[in-house]
Amino acid sequence: MRLVVLGGGESGVGTAILGKEKGYDVFVSDFGKIKENYKEVLIKNGIDWEDEKHTESLILNADVVMKSPGIPEKAPIVKKLVEKGIPVISEIEFAAPFTKAITIGITGSNGKTTTTMLTYHLLKSAGLNVGLAGNIGKSFAEQVAEDKYDSYVLELSSFQLDGIINYKPHIAIITNISPDHLDRYDYKYENYIDSKFRITMNQTEEDYLIYDADDEAISEWLQKNKTRAKLIPFSLTKTFEEGVFIKNNKMEAIINQEEFQMETAAIALEGKHNFKNAMAATSVAKLMQIRKATIRESLSNFQGVEHRLEKVLKIQNVQYINDSKATNVNATFFALDSMNTPTVWIVGGVDKGNDYNELMALVREKVKAIICLGVENRKIIDAFGNVVDVMVEVGTMTEAVRMAQHISEKGDTVLLSPACASFDLFENYEDRGRQFKDAVHNL
Ligand code: ADP
Repeated sequence: MRLVVLGGGESGVGTAILGKEKGYDVFVSDFGKIKENYKEVLIKNGIDWEDEKHTESLILNADVVMKSPGIPEKAPIVKKLVEKGIPVISEIEFAAPFTKAITIGITGSNGKTTTTMLTYHLLKSAGLNVGLAGNIGKSFAEQVAEDKYDSYVLELSSFQLDGIINYKPHIAIITNISPDHLDRYDYKYENYIDSKFRITMNQTEEDYLIYDADDEAISEWLQKNKTRAKLIPFSLTKTFEEGVFIKNNKMEAIINQEEFQMETAAIALEGKHNFKNAMAATSVAKLMQIRKATIRESLSNFQGVEHRLEKVLKIQNVQYINDSKATNVNATFFALDSMNTPTVWIVGGVDKGNDYNELMALVREKVKAIICLGVENRKIIDAFGNVVDVMVEVGTMTEAVRMAQHISEKGDTVLLSPACASFDLFENYEDRGRQFKDAVHNL
């Protein structure tokens, strides 16, 4: 059997290692440059590869192809493979049959990483032999090759879900759905929603789907379509006979006839969106029969993930917060929503078709000044120019942070929550977040 792996990054190299171990004739092809460290791993494992090209004669003879999530379906080589009827699948689809471990699959537009890390933290603190993979850290396929874990918490993007055929998580979470990555879905929101729901398409009556019942797109899909999985809703506004909800300032979970309660104030993560993430993670913990004391302890000591509403420093009683990972309007909505003091908001970057109207009420209520940090800020200025008193444009993070310090007063918050991708001025959102933190430390 010939396995061709398109893309020589983390998931590609991991898949190649697993394929090789399982006796496939493996070939890795990357149209860009493969990083040195990955090349070394391929060579060490005796795996054939090429980079900066796709040699069709070595690819179109595949029995199965693993496409890395970054490669669009429109790429010419992928189209050719599909035309020839060669299955093009994702890492998760390739690797899952080689492990008996159960998987918890987490998808959604926002909150995947936070919910994945929190769920992992809960299960690990309970002593389960659990692994962490998907979009995070070490490749799932490579971990399957090492066969170390009884269960995995997997962060799954829609691109990974597009490449599944038979894969099903025992427990699935859809954190929420709002328009994102529409360029990869023919600019049709329905296609993107359907892609997220692929997480449940192979689930059976023994499996679970945990979802945000406050989310319009999710509720609508569930009304129109069927899943066999047992549904576990969570909500900030409704209550359920079975599900997770808020009652008298307590988070309450009723799952498989068992009840769990916890004061919301004792949950370490702040903001409504994070309560939702905590509800989703708690549902998994209950399904995995984790003890109540462990759940409580883990929810009260989980400190969050870097670049997600991360508190950086308080300087002259001004709190600086790094939410660089907010690359769309929905994420920034929840960031602004969780602000309790007048806010100097640093926003901007590469706009993916944002509708800033969704933020209007929050900006009116909470934002005293806007600092635009992007190459092209027209849309932001048009949207909020008449809404806030102070609006400035800057060209670097250092300038942005210095300006923020200049504008802010005791008791204010300076929030970096760009609502945009970072590629105009930064390498990626991590680079943007780190530059912000460095600039704050240098004040
Ligand atoms: P993802 O992995 O889906 O991008 P992250 O956990 O990295 O999600 O969070 C991305 C951004 O979205 C951050 O700015 C974070 O504060 C915000 N966020 C986290 N959870 C939610 C949620 N449930 N709903 C909306 N926004 C969220």
